[in-house]
Amino acid sequence: MKTVAVFGSTGSIGVQTLNVVRRFPHAYKVVALAAGNNTALLAEQEAEFSPDYISTTAAYNSISARVFTGTDGAEKLAEEVDADIFVMAISGLAALSPLFKIIKKGKRVALANKEAIVCAGDIVTDEAKRYGTEIIPVDSEHSAVFQCLREERKNVKKVVLTASGGPFYACHSMDLRQITPEMAIKHPTWNMGRKISVDSATMVNKGLEIIEAARLFGTSNVDYIIHPESIIHSMVEFNDNSTLALMSYPNMELAIQYALTYPEREKNDGVKPFDFKKNLTFVLPDEIRFPAPKIAKECLRLGGTAPAIYSIADEVGVGLFLSKKIKFTDICGIIEEALSINEIERDFSIERLKELDREISQYFRRSMD
Ligand code: NDP
Ligand code: MG
Repeated sequence: MKTVAVFGSTGSIGVQTLNVVRRFPHAYKVVALAAGNNTALLAEQEAEFSPDYISTTAAYNSISARVFTGTDGAEKLAEEVDADIFVMAISGLAALSPLFKIIKKGKRVALANKEAIVCAGDIVTDEAKRYGTEIIPVDSEHSAVFQCLREERKNVKKVVLTASGGPFYACHSMDLRQITPEMAIKHPTWNMGRKISVDSATMVNKGLEIIEAARLFGTSNVDYIIHPESIIHSMVEFNDNSTLALMSYPNMELAIQYALTYPEREKNDGVKPFDFKKNLTFVLPDEIRFPAPKIAKECLRLGGTAPAIYSIADEVGVGLFLSKKIKFTDICGIIEEALSINEIERDFSIERLKELDREISQYFRRSMD
């Protein structure tokens, strides 16, 4: 039996991770749960899974677990707990510090969070190598690429990510400035947390994923294509111009399950086999209306702290948009402004990233008052 620690257990990925664990009661035992402030759901999860350790950003009365609370609760938990598999599904840069504690354990990290690896760059992959930690991607595109690369890691020409395009890509005559938070958090093919839903609508999500893929697979040749049905999850093109792709109906539990069971592949009755009666379509990106992936590619080329500025400014922008302080189209404006006013630093530490987060956040929040 393998022990599992779930960071972000009350979120979309966390809840689906626990669904996977429920399907394999003899294979996995949950030993730790880390949540934000949804203590009602956390209490239900504790009653069902009886973990030894819990962390939450809010006050919490546990039945029997050792509890860490406060903004650094997840980091303290990460330091204390040991497990065979750590699922990292805290959203945003809040995952950074706990992730760095987890990476030092030399175990498996099923990585859903993308902001930390985008911001911290090679520091994450270098530390993983140093401690012998295995990073298995959970993000569906990266899980697909990881699976395509299983047989052959050499001779890769290009990684091609697919993008559904989000809820507004095909609405050509829509004035994007009129999009409200309620409209933006409804995704056509995936049911996800609020921040990543807005990121999918602006296409910043694809930008983050381009950088994430470059970090995970050690190649800067990463491109994307719009594929509205979300059946092909991503592709790898090899030097003989053949392409491998991974297909299934969209279902995050497949990617989560694979990250837990790898190198084995287990049954999943929750997903129907693809029936081939459906047409698959591909559309070239429109980078005039949705410039975010193009800006991300430029950040990847610039290197240093450029990807971190992109990710941090987006997180600030999404927060301001969700609290109705800015328009949907201002999110990209904030990213561009942050990139123009912040110098790109070549050598940086995790502490510097946290500082940068405070600086960028304060700058834009102050200018909104
Ligand atoms: P959600 O917003 O649904 O969940 C986020 C989780 O993180 C919640 O459990 C939340 O707790 C917890 N959390 C937030 N802040 C803190 C903190 N400071 N300390 C501890 N826990 C915290 O997000 P998703 O599940 O959608 O996404 C999680 C990550 O996975 C993101 O980085 C996203 O980009 C990535 N991802 C998600 C996909 C999806 O389909 N949802 C697909 C691919 C990647 P609480 O709710 O209790 O406040
Ligand atoms: Mg994805």
